[in-house]
Amino acid sequence: MTDRKILEGALQLHGHGCWACTVGVRAGLATLAALGAPRSGGTQLCAIVEIGEDHGGTCFADGVQYATGCTFGKDNLRRQAYGKLAVTLVDKATQRAVRASYWPALHKQVMGTAFVHKRGMGIMPDEIPASEQEEVVNLIWEAPETEVLHIGPVFLHEGEWLPEMSGMTPCAVCCELVANAYLRVVGNKHVCIACSGYER
Ligand SMILES: [Zn+2]
Ligand SMILES: [Zn+2]
Repeated sequence: MTDRKILEGALQLHGHGCWACTVGVRAGLATLAALGAPRSGGTQLCAIVEIGEDHGGTCFADGVQYATGCTFGKDNLRRQAYGKLAVTLVDKATQRAVRASYWPALHKQVMGTAFVHKRGMGIMPDEIPASEQEEVVNLIWEAPETEVLHIGPVFLHEGEWLPEMSGMTPCAVCCELVANAYLRVVGNKHVCIACSGYER
């Protein structure tokens, strides 16, 4: 797949074209290249994104997910909530990692686009004209890498990775399947957290 196709796929998954998702795609591709690793079809890689919650720019994480293959559903996407557009990509087998962060050389230009102006007025991003979505995407996509990203050195990341736990058991109360580690004991029954009355 060409990089442009990866961008298009990411924006389709994401639901609209925006600058932060485009930065995420570039950060994902750049960190893969720095590690010399292919996209994570399994859980070979883990991405730690630094977005927080409920702030502008969290779209970054969707670009990272699509480009790196580190996804919410494979549980190899983690969050270190610093409120930043940055990602550390870890290759678990070799314990090598690299961090890329958004470098705001063009940020004034981004903030001056019709897209961002309309977002500021409360217009949903997918309701902004496609040409204005493309403008802000291309601003980020076509810029030299050094104007969009800061990429750190490859470093040793000694994370502890737990093996995937298999096995699911029906809750004794609601009968829904529960991953074994999430069963709780109430009396002599194994039940899900929701049925247990425990908070976790
Ligand atoms: Zn977005
Ligand atoms: Zn239950």
